[in-house]
Amino acid sequence: LPAAAPEPLFAAYNESHEELVREALARPDLFNAVQFAPAIRFALAEDFGLSPQVVTVGRIVAALRRLGFKYVYDTNFAADLTVMEEGYELLQRLQGDGALPLFSSCCPAWVKFVEQAYPQLIANLSTCKSPQQMAGAIFKTYTGQLDPDLRSRHLFVTAVMPCIAKKFECNRPELGGSYGRDVDAVLTTRELAHLIKDKGIDWHSLAEEEPDQPLGEYSGAGAIFGVTGGVTEAVLRTAAEVVGGKPLEEIEFHEVRGMAGTRKVNINLGKEQLEIIIVAGLKNVVPILDDLIAGKASFHFMEVMACPAGCLSGGGQPKILVETYRGSIYRQRAASIYNHDRDLPVRKAHENPAIKQLYADFLGQPLGELSHALLHTHYTVRRSEENV
Ligand code: SF4
Repeated sequence: LPAAAPEPLFAAYNESHEELVREALARPDLFNAVQFAPAIRFALAEDFGLSPQVVTVGRIVAALRRLGFKYVYDTNFAADLTVMEEGYELLQRLQGDGALPLFSSCCPAWVKFVEQAYPQLIANLSTCKSPQQMAGAIFKTYTGQLDPDLRSRHLFVTAVMPCIAKKFECNRPELGGSYGRDVDAVLTTRELAHLIKDKGIDWHSLAEEEPDQPLGEYSGAGAIFGVTGGVTEAVLRTAAEVVGGKPLEEIEFHEVRGMAGTRKVNINLGKEQLEIIIVAGLKNVVPILDDLIAGKASFHFMEVMACPAGCLSGGGQPKILVETYRGSIYRQRAASIYNHDRDLPVRKAHENPAIKQLYADFLGQPLGELSHALLHTHYTVRRSEENV
């Protein structure tokens, strides 16, 4: 791992993240890297008057380069990595090693809710960091192996997220290592749109560009993390093939899709019938947790996203000012995500060549020693008055 970076890179880490990013981009001693979340690529263009049905990955990459980011990577790559780690963690727990049911841990608002309101269930949370944090940890360590220049310079990692809770998450002291924080600053989708406009970048004339490789390469599994049910479907695509030992005939798990706040499904995983619950909207999870504690519920895996349709409806996304359009825009964003998945040449995380290369060259294996050091975390009992 690279030598320790002196902290803090900036005196006031708790100030506006947008200001922090502007300062970082102006500092010649820093290498600036950026990642952008699955749910950004369908929503950012709404702030420039385009429909949520327009996918603008290449244009986002171009805009980020015009803003001054030297390395433009993709959170979707780390979503694939999360699938690998969380998929193997699920299989390990099904074999009796660790608490069941396993709860997803991608959503920091949900994680904090468990820490504050249901601390007796902390052991059920996946130990996997979210894709945002996994991405930062990999950028700050593995890239030093890919590019020797990066060993002697500080890498400042910005994440563009649909989410305000992600700013809180990147400040959690346990989410980092000898290399400093996993992620240094988080911009919301709206803040990125504001920066692009403020710098006078003409969005409509930008030509598509490719992200930097290999940390910009992703599969359809990573792409669907932005919609409720997406994490579950992505994990199933990998877990089912690992258990079955052969390629799936059908990789789309339509049972887990939809916009209802609570969905309960049974999936055949080898000899096991896997009972899964998918929840969108925190209020919907309360009766399930209460039943679980009272011994009235039993299941294997639960995905929880705090926002009503998953990250595509996050609090940092472009505002939908007319209430009655909200459901229709969420559905259009979800359709764009699934269409994008269908258009990608690789649709399973474990088949992403960059993920295979990362394990072969650096991490070793899912849940291995280095994975545990960089990609997994622990949780803390919190008082309910602690702020986001
Ligand atoms: Fe953030 Fe909402 Fe996504 Fe949770 S569901 S990570 S709060 S945008």
